[in-house]
Amino acid sequence: MTEDLFEQLSATRLRTIESAQRDGATGFYLPDHRWEEPVYLLDGAKVTKEEFILRSGLEHLLPDVSAVKCSRCGREESPAQWHKRCGMPQPGSVACDGVFF
Ligand SMILES: [Zn+2]
Repeated sequence: MTEDLFEQLSATRLRTIESAQRDGATGFYLPDHRWEEPVYLLDGAKVTKEEFILRSGLEHLLPDVSAVKCSRCGREESPAQWHKRCGMPQPGSVACDGVFF
């Protein structure tokens, strides 16, 4: 790939981010190349990764999330289970009705 093409790709990514900012979008843009920085948007404003995790409600979509936890029994599951019911059979009672977060 030529350097020009790399620059075009970076410019496309920047335009995508700028238009998301204008739209007041919430989301994140991971770098396509190692010289780029990840960008985290909250209602169109650039925020740190930490603010994004705490306030966006989308932190479970980040690729480096390792696990989600049941609100009741503490069981860990893959992030795909986020906000789903746990349903773990409990000794001597009904299934756990916690949700993963
Ligand atoms: Zn549970």
